[in-house]
Amino acid sequence: VRALSADPPGTALCTDFDGTLAPIVADPARSRPVPGVPALLGRLADRMSAVAVVSGRPGAFLAAALAGAGPRVQLVGLYGLEWVEDGTVRLAPEAVGWVGPATAAAAAARADAERPDAVEVEPKGPSVTLHWRRSPGGEAWALGFARAWAGRTGLVAQPGRMSVELRPPLEIDKGTVVERLGRGRRLACFAGDDAGDLAAFAALDRLAASGTAVQRVAVADAESPPELVRAADVVVRGGPVRFATLLGQVDVATA
Ligand SMILES: [Mg+2]
Repeated sequence: VRALSADPPGTALCTDFDGTLAPIVADPARSRPVPGVPALLGRLADRMSAVAVVSGRPGAFLAAALAGAGPRVQLVGLYGLEWVEDGTVRLAPEAVGWVGPATAAAAAARADAERPDAVEVEPKGPSVTLHWRRSPGGEAWALGFARAWAGRTGLVAQPGRMSVELRPPLEIDKGTVVERLGRGRRLACFAGDDAGDLAAFAALDRLAASGTAVQRVAVADAESPPELVRAADVVVRGGPVRFATLLGQVDVATA
């Protein structure tokens, strides 16, 4: 809180969404931020040089879930492949060619007779996520399907919390976004809870090497990967609700 409050105009605050701003829920479609968080981010964005939510979710989902955040909060979806600009979702040009293969994989997953019913298929334009949170036995099928379709399409399988995602093999990830937003700032912070957030921590390592102060924040619970906790400067126990409380303290300190 002290670090983030010291110099708002010199600070870039980047955060993941699910498991960081929003409690993990059984149905990913029903995930919502902790109450008050959108407006809180909006206020911080008025004072800081950058406030961004960088997520694996589609940009349209983030725009709806964080509608109260206002235009100053940057919304980056699909691990950097999508962003929201003046209310419109933009897709990175290099990702356009992957919409076809990912859509085909999503359709094949839905049609697969061996898919356990409770494994959810979430098509996301150039990528697709398979969730087994409501289907404890579904992990083996999902990982096998992802491996097979990675081989067939050239998409790459990225593991997540009770999920696996097939995404384009592009050198765009949360890290490239965080590095761009944090470059030249006095302080860059990223908060996340999952394996996909390690790329953002690695970007903070690169920024630190060029003289930016950094804060690697793990919003951790029992499911969080141990390597994320090990790499963090700050471990927030208590999940998104606790993290929102700390951001609220930054809000008060910088008001
Ligand atoms: Mg997350």
